[in-house]
Order: sequence, then structure tokens, then C-alpha cells
Amino acid sequence: MADLFDPACELCEAARLTEWFYEDDLCWVAECELCATPMVVWKRHDPNPTEEVRVVLLARLSEVVDAHYGYEHWVDDNMRSIPTHYHAHARPRGGFYGHGTRRGKDQRSL
Ligand SMILES: [Zn+2]
Ligand SMILES: [Zn+2]
Repeated sequence: MADLFDPACELCEAARLTEWFYEDDLCWVAECELCATPMVVWKRHDPNPTEEVRVVLLARLSEVVDAHYGYEHWVDDNMRSIPTHYHAHARPRGGFYGHGTRRGKDQRSL
């Protein structure tokens, strides 16, 4: 099972630290600490889900965006900062993104 969890990986680590909107056996969805947009994280330390898995992950992400953010989004799964662990951000369409997009939550900065 060592390939499922890497203690040095920020996303594996975040699995224990972050407030989650959603969780199941496959993934969790939370607000990204760095860019304050929702992201789905696969529960495997692996950068390459099958297409079937990826479709499910992105559907979960979409549900969270609808329920908690309420904006039209596009999926950004270009994994620039953590290329070894699959995750995808839901970024607002239309150019603006980042802090203050979540309903009813204090803004914060890093
Ligand atoms: Zn982010
Ligand atoms: Zn990881």
C-alpha cells in the first residue's frame, strides 16, 4: 500500500489538515490553501487516474462548486506544483479567480 500515501507529499498531508466539502472512498474535495479555489484530490498518491476515475473525480468537484460556490467553472488539472499526485482545481470562468469567491467565508491570504 506504500504507493497510496507519501508522507512527504503536500496533498497526502493535506488529507489530514484540511476542511473537506466532500469525501468518499475515491477522493476528497476541499478549498486549496494556495489559491482559495475548490479542488478535488484523488486518494492515491498517483498522477494518472484512469479516464473512468477522472470522470468521477471531476463530477464530485462539480457538485461541490454548485453547492458551495455557485459559479461556472473550468477544470484545471495541470498539476504544476505537485505533479506526482492527481488533483484538479475548479476555477471560475471569466477571468477572475482566487480570494473571496467562496460564499460566506472570511478571506485569507498566504
Ligand atoms: Zn491551488
Ligand atoms: Zn500524495
